[in-house]
Amino acid sequence: MKNSIIDLVQNVAILLAFAMFYENFWLKHEKSKNLGTKLITGLVLSIIGIILMLTPWTPTLGVTFDARSIMLTISGLFFGPIPTIMAILSTSTLRIIMGGGGIWMGLAVIVSSGTIGVLWRQFRPSWRQRKAHTELIALGLIVHLVMLGCTVLLPLALILPTMKSIVLPLLLIYSPATMLLGVLLLRQSNNFQNRLTKEKLYEMELRFSQVLKSGSIVSIILDISEKIIFYNKYLLEITNYSEEEISHKNWFEILLPQGIRNDIKNIFEKNLPDEYYFEQIENEILSKNGDPIFISWYFTILHDEKKNISGLACMGVNITERRKYELDLNAKNEEYQQINEEYQQINEELNQSNIELIKAKERAEESDRLKSAFLANMSHEIRTPMNGILGFAGLLKEPDLTGEKQQQFIQIIEKSGNRMLNIINDIIDISKIESGQMDISISETNVNELIEYIYTFFKPEVEKKGMQLFFYNGLPEKDAIVNTDHEKIYAILTNLVKNAIKYSDKGIIEFGYNIPLATNITKSAELMFFVKDTGIGIPFERQEAIFQRFVQADIIDKRAYQGAGLGLSITKSYVEMLGGKIWLESQEGKGSTFYFTIPYSNKTPEKITNIISRNTDNDQRLSKHLKILIAEDDESSEILLNEIVKKDNEVLVAKNGSEAVNTCLQHPDIDLILMDIQMPEMNGYEATRGIRKFNKHVIIIAQTAFVLSGERELAIAAGCNDYISKPIKQASLIDVIKKHFN
Ligand code: ADP
Repeated sequence: MKNSIIDLVQNVAILLAFAMFYENFWLKHEKSKNLGTKLITGLVLSIIGIILMLTPWTPTLGVTFDARSIMLTISGLFFGPIPTIMAILSTSTLRIIMGGGGIWMGLAVIVSSGTIGVLWRQFRPSWRQRKAHTELIALGLIVHLVMLGCTVLLPLALILPTMKSIVLPLLLIYSPATMLLGVLLLRQSNNFQNRLTKEKLYEMELRFSQVLKSGSIVSIILDISEKIIFYNKYLLEITNYSEEEISHKNWFEILLPQGIRNDIKNIFEKNLPDEYYFEQIENEILSKNGDPIFISWYFTILHDEKKNISGLACMGVNITERRKYELDLNAKNEEYQQINEEYQQINEELNQSNIELIKAKERAEESDRLKSAFLANMSHEIRTPMNGILGFAGLLKEPDLTGEKQQQFIQIIEKSGNRMLNIINDIIDISKIESGQMDISISETNVNELIEYIYTFFKPEVEKKGMQLFFYNGLPEKDAIVNTDHEKIYAILTNLVKNAIKYSDKGIIEFGYNIPLATNITKSAELMFFVKDTGIGIPFERQEAIFQRFVQADIIDKRAYQGAGLGLSITKSYVEMLGGKIWLESQEGKGSTFYFTIPYSNKTPEKITNIISRNTDNDQRLSKHLKILIAEDDESSEILLNEIVKKDNEVLVAKNGSEAVNTCLQHPDIDLILMDIQMPEMNGYEATRGIRKFNKHVIIIAQTAFVLSGERELAIAAGCNDYISKPIKQASLIDVIKKHFN
């Protein structure tokens, strides 16, 4: 019994040696397990196996045990195939050498226990993580049940007695012993791992605290009362504070600028108790001498062993330089943006002025082109009647001309003169409109009378062309008084009717007015006039152009009708000056209708004014014998005046203003002076003023070729009694003279 205990102790000691080998050799070479390590291990295991086999344990007489099954099982589990196979081979060799009846069982036990250990390692690799103790006892039981089974390999007579004697030790000692050895190795392995982990942790901690202390990262730890309990060198470096000034001082009070102190403190106080993970923030801190330092912070909340919040670890990157660059960059960016905007504006302005320049150039070219066309047309329009006047005046000189021929030629000269006068009047009207000198003079106008007068005036001309003329008055006589400029209305209608006659060869011409869309005559109503013909019509694409100034003259196809192309543009201006509008409807070949409106306010006048004064007095002679002075430098004009007034009157002539004054001085009995305004040496105004100094009674009638507004007023202001414009018609002049002497 004493021996068997010693054997047992020996076996245990050998197994402990096995365990030590595992701890001191195998685990240390865990990482770099190469074939050499495995072979050495195999060798050591073989030796241990052999020693075990040579020191068997004999619990009862005739039964010897050794712990090879335990050692090989655990070897397979912890050392893997190569060392275990080596141990299997060496112990098997020994067993063969030992010989005896139990040789097959002995070999079977060696091979089965080592193999089961290796297979367990192979197919249950995570046995350590699961319930390791259970795994190990299961392994021990399986190995030793197989061992029990191996007794069948014994000589028949030994099977049963052996089985009986080993069953209990196998189950009660070998299986738990397998487990215990496994647990021992597992502990060693775990301890070893723990040691390694600790070492690594320590190393990491060491490195980490080195990083915190040095480097260009600010690291601080604040306790829950916001005091600085840890800080690194870098913080001192950038803030210029000494350790005493920083250590255990309130972070916010020492380092944060007044302006943001409370905000940041609020974030800290609000988030810390809630265990909120602080977001990364960037803020400014102040150095000892007040320089701003910008820090981008990262936070970690710290806990004590009882898991209570103990403070805040803060790591901050100094971004002052970056901030400076950013600010510089922003400033630069803004500057560039501003410059860019300025350039853009300049560009836009340039573009704008470019566009305006191009437009102005186009306008200038267009107006140049139109004016050239206008001048060419004007030249034609003036030369044609001049041709008539000069040509037939030349023919009149023929000595043997019959009285009838003479009359015919004179009529042609008169007609041509009138045509020219019309053109000149048109040009003057256009210039007045363009220069803004065309005034309107509003008076009460009887539109019915106006229409009838135009009808009477043009009827003979229309009928001469084989056509018919009709008029239409839209209002009864009592409502037909309109406050408007009667001269303009007259000019508008005359122009439209003239055109209707000019551009028609057959059919009828109707004109007149009505009140559109109004059954009652209301204050806001307007009168709509129309002039309708059945003439040549106007192509659609030309209908707008005909109202434009100068454009008219630009038409290639003039259809051989006379006209300077100014009439309609004057007409349109007049209509617009009176507050109305003008438009037309026309179909080529079928005729045209021109419409225009004027505002109409219904006033019942006490008396109806005659706007057109008709000269019913056909007596071209003066009832009184007069002494008349003609002051005129132009010879033909003087002859004309002389011819008109010389009958029954005495006529004196002066060639300029000063001659006129002298003649007046010499002949204080002069009754009438026909004073030209435009004269050499002294003009008509000066002469009149001179004469008025000594003669207030003589009648002075200014005669001028200027027809611009204000001319009459100037003449009256200079002392003239009346005014007559050239060309002077006999009837008009006699009328004016009669006005003063009859
Ligand atoms: P003018 O008659 O002197 O040429 P206007 O300004 O009066 O100038 O007319 C402009 C143009 O409009 C005319 O040349 C003509 O082509 C066209 N026109 C005017 N009235 C009529 C009309 N009643 N029928 C056809 N064409 C017309």
